Amino acid sequence: MIDQKLVERAFKNLENAYAPYSNYRVGACVETFNGDYYDGANIENASYGLSNCAERNAVFAAYSNGVRKDDIKALAIVCEGKTIAAPCGACRQVLVELLNKDTPIYLANRTSQTETTIEELLPMSFTQEDL
Ligand SMILES: [Zn+2]
Repeated sequence: MIDQKLVERAFKNLENAYAPYSNYRVGACVETFNGDYYDGANIENASYGLSNCAERNAVFAAYSNGVRKDDIKALAIVCEGKTIAAPCGACRQVLVELLNKDTPIYLANRTSQTETTIEELLPMSFTQEDL
């Protein structure tokens, strides 16, 4: 079941997006098993390649505070687009390393929601196990 409290918190984080170039705001939030939340929003830059996605910012914030994959209960990623916001390829590569394969990932826009996992989003992934 999709955690509506986590999704709503991600929508609140969306308000903090810095997206003057795309005007495509994204919010994200990591929830840990001990009840902590780590917030993220997309942050763009005039040098577009330096922009960073909301879900990476949220997961990096969690890791920066000592959280590790086994501590993470779920991740929510939300947008205001016509379709739900699936993570970009770069984020999928980050998430496959920093989340457990079966950690719930909630994707939502204002009208629809779905639940997935990084294993479903990035099958046959390249990970540290391949090195
Ligand atoms: Zn991304």
